[in-house]
Amino acid sequence: PMRIQERMDSGDKFFSLEFFPPKTSSGAANLLGRMERMAQGGPLFVDITWHSKGDPGSSKDTSSTTIAAAACNYVGVETMLHMACCNATETQLDKWLRKAKDVGVKNVLALRGDPIGDRWETQDQFNYAVDLVRHIRKKYGDYFVIAVAGYPTGHPEAQSYAEDLMRLKEKVDAGADFIITQLFFTAETYLKFVSNCRDIGITCPILPGILPIVGYQSMKTIATLSKLEVPQHILDAVHSIKDNDEAVRRFGVDHAVALVRTLFDTGDVGGMHIYTMNREAAPIEILRRLGMWRDTPPVRALPWKLTANHQRREDVR
Ligand code: FAD
Repeated sequence: PMRIQERMDSGDKFFSLEFFPPKTSSGAANLLGRMERMAQGGPLFVDITWHSKGDPGSSKDTSSTTIAAAACNYVGVETMLHMACCNATETQLDKWLRKAKDVGVKNVLALRGDPIGDRWETQDQFNYAVDLVRHIRKKYGDYFVIAVAGYPTGHPEAQSYAEDLMRLKEKVDAGADFIITQLFFTAETYLKFVSNCRDIGITCPILPGILPIVGYQSMKTIATLSKLEVPQHILDAVHSIKDNDEAVRRFGVDHAVALVRTLFDTGDVGGMHIYTMNREAAPIEILRRLGMWRDTPPVRALPWKLTANHQRREDVR
């Protein structure tokens, strides 16, 4: 089978979908059911986020690795596992990477991650994402496709935007195959970033990370957590309809569709990454409106029933 980055070059517009691992077993069943439905849209891959506390590769049946493996092997969709290296030892990282390999996951988003609480404890010299990229390439050769994170307005801790771009280039030079960006709110932000990346010799694909806005408060919370500023015109627009969930959702879909259309019109953008927040309706609508939802039959139906009524009810928009 073709690797992700080869399929990116095929010329068709592509999309990927990000999910976070559930906290409970029934949440896991729900999520796999959702992924199976979302797989019918024909994503290039789905990716599963990583949560440093208690997550990684443990015996818990809801860990990132387990969910990624299930998505890969049962839902039949190409899967990418996020992995953060700070707060981890080389032994732990190798344990998780071997486990990912054992369960058939071939794609890793190599991240630094954030300190747990106020503590900042780097271990075994895994201080930055680039250290994880180098480690994976050195120890696992070309087995894994590696993605890294990029920040259209610069990473919040970076000394400067320009310095952060050089750090991004280091990750690519160390062996990353493509970049997924942090969410952003305007096309100009992303386009300037891509142009600056190209100027310093970053030639790999750069997937724009798109967050469908689904609520006023959730938008503000996500922006705060990501240390991003929401442009005033968007704040105002969403604020004026904030008590009408359906109106906010429609605004979010319209905004995402317009944003992505602008990016695609400019040429250098082959596809996009959607931060689904484990929701279904908005991402599907955005993809349908853009003509990117494929309606393919499931690659491999799940061997058990996941759509019991009590689980379905959690299918929030
Ligand atoms: P790095 O690339 O290591 O950069 C971190 C900072 O260090 C930057 O300011 C950079 O400029 C600077 N830097 C890099 N190298 C050096 C150097 N040699 N010397 C000095 N400074 C340097 N977090 C999670 O915990 N789980 C997830 O699943 C997750 N998924 C994400 C997905 C995407 C697409 C994005 C954009 C972010 C995600 N994050 C996730 C958040 C991420 O872990 C944090 O933003 C973290 O603070 C930085 O991670 P990084 O891999 O970008 O770090």
